[in-house]
Amino acid sequence: MITYDLKGKTALVTGGASGIGLALVTQLAKNGAKVAINYLADDARGPEQVEKLRNAGLDVIGAPGNVGDAADCERMVLTAVKDLGRLDYLACNAGTPGTRTTIGPKELDRLTEELWESVLQVNLLGVFRCVKAAASALKAAHGAVVSTASIAGLDSPGSSMAYGATKAGVISLTKNLARTLAPEARANAVAPGAVDSSWMIEWTNEQRSGSIDKALLKRRCTPEDLAEVMLFLLAGAAMVTGQTVVVDGGLTLG
Ligand code: NAD
Repeated sequence: MITYDLKGKTALVTGGASGIGLALVTQLAKNGAKVAINYLADDARGPEQVEKLRNAGLDVIGAPGNVGDAADCERMVLTAVKDLGRLDYLACNAGTPGTRTTIGPKELDRLTEELWESVLQVNLLGVFRCVKAAASALKAAHGAVVSTASIAGLDSPGSSMAYGATKAGVISLTKNLARTLAPEARANAVAPGAVDSSWMIEWTNEQRSGSIDKALLKRRCTPEDLAEVMLFLLAGAAMVTGQTVVVDGGLTLG
């Protein structure tokens, strides 16, 4: 694993109390950064992870807030920037799958406006809002953004059309964020394939085995696999902006 000297650097990671977000928080903090962990205010994992990481000697703070709510999002980002003192890195990672029960031929009939709205608010508008609120701090620090898209945003068999559309939106948004943040700051995204996170609980046995059988590298990604690439896009990759890196073990090629 590549290591970085991130002493004096700061980061905010949305959806940072579990899965990919938590792995990124851990890697950023282990490399010396001070990290604000965003989580939903009623998610007990947030304060638990803050305490656990602090007990392990890592420099982290909590930044509760709902990225699906405009006012909440702005307050959460600005408070985190104030508490951190500056903002070098922003990871827009929080996401929701909506529900998987509507996937398939009946989806057009069953996908409600409410579900569309809830997925859109978190997965796409949440990214826009966080970057908008953090833009001046990121530019001042000559920092970087990384967002978590999905291979569902490139080609979406097996995912809800609302989920796939929001992740395609993140890939498109990333290009325009790169344009608007340049030349001071950069914006990139990752597009994970199947990742061993809590989302696996909802998968059928067929989906689980398919995600390994179809992948060229014959395993699912770990959250750490994703975090490693996200850390590179944030702290290395000085001339990479507007790009989406597929991290799927060859699933889309299999
Ligand atoms: P996860 O459930 O562990 O992480 C998602 C986190 O986002 C959770 O901590 C959740 O509480 C938080 N969150 C949800 N809505 C939020 C909101 N409105 N405000 C703040 N936080 C909110 O699962 P994960 O797999 O680590 O997912 C992280 C990202 O990876 C998501 O954006 C997801 O779409 C993307 N992704 C996951 C997979 C996969 O197979 N697991 C594949 C492709 C993309």
